Amino acid sequence: MPNLASRARERHVLFVLSVEEQIELEIRARDELEKLRKEATTEEVDPQAVAVDVAIGRLSRLDSMQMEEVRKDASRRRNHRIHELQEALRKMDEGSYGLCAGCGEWIAFARLEQRPEAALCGGCAR
Ligand SMILES: [Zn+2]
Repeated sequence: MPNLASRARERHVLFVLSVEEQIELEIRARDELEKLRKEATTEEVDPQAVAVDVAIGRLSRLDSMQMEEVRKDASRRRNHRIHELQEALRKMDEGSYGLCAGCGEWIAFARLEQRPEAALCGGCAR
């Protein structure tokens, strides 16, 4: 059972993404990753997060807890995306980028353009 990387090499001539498209997607993935990492580091010293604690007298305890949950949720989603983007960049190095992890077929450029970290094709993601 060949792994995805060797399948990618075998099928390289059939690669549906042009070199320009691959470069475009790598740039997008790197930009996105950098943006998310920046967000993650600025959030650690986010003055708004501090302001929530300061303003606690004006907010009910429940409100502040809900805000904390929303913040945590956004941070979880961001960390998940960072992980997915790192994974996509690793696959680009390896040469298996653009292959669906579900069916092994190529993922359409239009989909990767929207979500460079997509690991599944449109069909498998449904
Ligand atoms: Zn698929």
